[in-house]
Amino acid sequence: MHVAREIDVEVAILGAGMSGLCMGIQLKRRGVEDFILIEKSAGLGGTWWDNRYPGAQVDVPAPAYSFSFAPNPHWTHRFADAPEILAYQQRLARDHGLAPHLRLGHAIVEAAFEAVAGRWRLTLNDGSIVRARFFVCSTGPLSQPRWPDIPGLHDFGGRLLHTARWPAGADLSGLRIGVIGTGSTASQLVPALAQKAAHLALFQRTPNWVLPRVDRHYGRLDRWLMHLPGYARLARGAWVQVLEMGRRGFDEGSLARRLMVRAATAHLRRQVPDPQLRERLTPRYPLGCKRIIYSNDYFPALAQPQCALVTAPIREITPDGVVTADGRAHALDALVCATGFDTTRPLAQLRITGLDGRTLEDAWRGGQRAYLGLTVPGFPNFFLMLGPNTGTGHTSTLLFIEPQVQHALACMQRVRREGRRWISVRADVAAAQAEALQQRLAGSVWSQCSSWYRDPSGRIFAIWPGFTREYVRAVRRPDESAYELA
Ligand code: NAP
Repeated sequence: MHVAREIDVEVAILGAGMSGLCMGIQLKRRGVEDFILIEKSAGLGGTWWDNRYPGAQVDVPAPAYSFSFAPNPHWTHRFADAPEILAYQQRLARDHGLAPHLRLGHAIVEAAFEAVAGRWRLTLNDGSIVRARFFVCSTGPLSQPRWPDIPGLHDFGGRLLHTARWPAGADLSGLRIGVIGTGSTASQLVPALAQKAAHLALFQRTPNWVLPRVDRHYGRLDRWLMHLPGYARLARGAWVQVLEMGRRGFDEGSLARRLMVRAATAHLRRQVPDPQLRERLTPRYPLGCKRIIYSNDYFPALAQPQCALVTAPIREITPDGVVTADGRAHALDALVCATGFDTTRPLAQLRITGLDGRTLEDAWRGGQRAYLGLTVPGFPNFFLMLGPNTGTGHTSTLLFIEPQVQHALACMQRVRREGRRWISVRADVAAAQAEALQQRLAGSVWSQCSSWYRDPSGRIFAIWPGFTREYVRAVRRPDESAYELA
């Protein structure tokens, strides 16, 4: 859709993934029609549009991976796969009439707050301008692919792919494939690729904790039940409570943690009878420090004859393949980087300028932080969705998105109600909350290894350390005294 050279809207939302869609829907439910949803990709879906690698699935039970206002009776499995989730998102957009608000294939390159007018001036990649009273950044932490910093990567002569930019229809059947990375993504990708590969070499730097995936096909009875009024909502609520109990698994000495460690250890022992292979797959860091993997087919895939687990570090990549530190050359036709996301420089692709010409990059020089993951002092009328310290290892991110949207909407409403130009979080309140959070995270399980949850200084910027209910309670209704208005 074409964007006019200059338009004025009440709300501009960047990113049409789960949080952007939720924001759009809730605006409409409150009668606000004057908003646009700007999305760089050719379709909506966010991470589920980008991550189309074979085997991509959600790793929390699907009933909890739906919004409270839109339970989904169509899931076919407890752990839904990427196309089903994308279909859910497309249904959400259709049912709530979001199409006229979508601006697909557009990116914001610059955003500057004009204090006198109380408006954001957003410059798009085609040069057009959007002026918006409120700017919602719903790009999430996992949107920029991270390529591994390995000499020779781009000299590789075969097919080079990143899981987060998987080309539609890519077929690696019959090829010698190398996969770099052993996180959640690789654990889903490897079993799917292994089925068709002539040979698959998995380059592992760190062995990870793997728990069984207690999946289940939803049969006719389930589907019938899920169409009964209230049932899908009930199932969602029940799963949310079950997941909430899993939070204890991240606390040293808890029963839940002991059970999780025991289950993961037994899973490895059961699935990998070869003691040497098992030894190489045994994690050396505390469970939960990095994202836990849930899989029943990852370990069995590695034991297949066409698969090899390579634990020697990678020395370089040549036109023909990968050379490891032991001098071995691994000849490859395709190299897949399942190396995750650049989480330490979120929004690096656009320059955001708040009050007094200060950029977000400047504000975050000592590390990214936002009041309850949502608002940043000096950046009025600006809301982050899934911002710093709102990630968890135990539950569905959608449970965090809904209260964030409510919070942002309440702030917007306050500006209108009080006839103000802007609202901004108080610097002292934001600093105190960030400090309390870091104190809580110090010594936690997430501080005991390196992961995408931490920045180069070791500060944990991605994790919410508490229960979901604590976050929801703190965020749903803004504390009016935390904000200043002008
Ligand atoms: P990740 O967890 O960051 O894992 C990246 C992997 O690449 C790690 O094993 C890392 O090793 C390895 N790696 C990176 N650079 C390397 C290098 N230069 N040489 C060798 N190995 C290298 O990324 P991800 O697996 O894409 O997952 C990211 C997040 O996405 C997850 O934590 C999760 O939140 C989300 N996700 C969710 C699902 C789902 O089912 N809902 C699925 C996939 C992903 P080290 O550990 O040694 O750094």
